[in-house]
Amino acid sequence: MKIHEYQARQLLADAGVAVPAFAVAEDIPTAVAEAKRLFDAGIKEIVIKAQVHAGGRGKAGFVKLVSNLKDAEAAATFMLTNKMVSYQTGPEGLVVKKLLIAAAEAIAKEYYLAITVDRSRRTATLIASAEGGVEIEVVAEKNPAAIKKVPLHPLLGLQAFQARELAFELGFKGKQVGQAADIMMKIAKVFREKDASLVEINPLVVTPADEKNPDGRVLALDAKFQFDDNALFRHPELEKLFDPAEENPAELRAHEFGLSYVALDGNIGCLVNGAGLAMATMDIVKLHGGEPANFLDVGGSATEEAVTEAFRIILGDPNVKGILVNIFGGIMQCDKIARAIVSSAKTVGFKVPLVVRLEGTNVAAARQILADAAKEIPNMQAATDLTDAASRIVAAVGAPVAKAG
Ligand code: GDP
Ligand code: MG
Repeated sequence: MKIHEYQARQLLADAGVAVPAFAVAEDIPTAVAEAKRLFDAGIKEIVIKAQVHAGGRGKAGFVKLVSNLKDAEAAATFMLTNKMVSYQTGPEGLVVKKLLIAAAEAIAKEYYLAITVDRSRRTATLIASAEGGVEIEVVAEKNPAAIKKVPLHPLLGLQAFQARELAFELGFKGKQVGQAADIMMKIAKVFREKDASLVEINPLVVTPADEKNPDGRVLALDAKFQFDDNALFRHPELEKLFDPAEENPAELRAHEFGLSYVALDGNIGCLVNGAGLAMATMDIVKLHGGEPANFLDVGGSATEEAVTEAFRIILGDPNVKGILVNIFGGIMQCDKIARAIVSSAKTVGFKVPLVVRLEGTNVAAARQILADAAKEIPNMQAATDLTDAASRIVAAVGAPVAKAG
């Protein structure tokens, strides 16, 4: 599960990490009022940031520094009325529904700091770089030596000496070392206590030196958290942070029915049981020159109602020009799928070609049900095996749609 930056900032603040004060606004007048409050408090510059579940906002123009109310209003208006398109969103972009308004901090240097799971090492790993602020993927590619990794001990977690050592390696000086190491220790604690899969601060900054802080201050100016869905049951406080507005509505509905659905940009809808078979089905569709419109695993124990809902979700995608049903009945009974096809034909309607390949438990009964309903579903073809099914659906749909972007 992903959360917004403002929610992540609150979690950081709760953990004792220094985070500039902030407010959240969902409309332009509130954004302006919050900006006014900060200016009235004597703050010279504020930062307005789009709250969406994607990064790359800075480059996309959705992080703006402003020093007067007029510019604050213009920035808020721009962000709330334009879709944000960044390297992380895809060409269709994201609608911005919330803004974060905070006192801006002057930056002397930007760093990158994160904790995530390193699957090859099978442990949580602290990742840090003195080349922060920019896309870390680019640093990883162009200058991998600039990225430091510290594996965390599964029981002891991050140890103080490791944090200090890393702070020195990153080039922190004087009082910065203690502050940076302290932030590392705190995010390691949050990561573990909250069952996070990612905690990322990019940028972690050092502010310029001033009289009170001759070494500057180390602060988190951005925060991204992701949590392990399988552990959410023990974090009701995190479940509350879920923002359905940031999720694909079809994927949300699928989730409610216990279906694993991921929308893709092709035109062949796939209804499959089992994640492995779903992947294989997508592969074979591509092998035959087609493009899958989705990944959909109905699982082994889906009800007829859930399978009907699956068809409704697939057909709700206007890009879908044909459907491939590929079921290998083990726990799932083929006749259940057949009945769902017949009832979907009545309630949803198949206006596009439908190719059905069924094998396994109760397949004879299933074939009979479909044969009996053949007249009512004229767009349906039965396939003998997976290769036959893939070539039939690709032929029925025609050449794949050209992709945007
Ligand atoms: P992202 O692009 O989505 O990761 O958004 P960030 O929150 O990381 O902001 C992008 C960039 O905006 C940062 O790398 C900073 O350079 C700049 N920025 C963000 N907040 C501040 C701030 O308070 N003061 C200054 N001077 N720059 C900021
Ligand atoms: Mg950032």
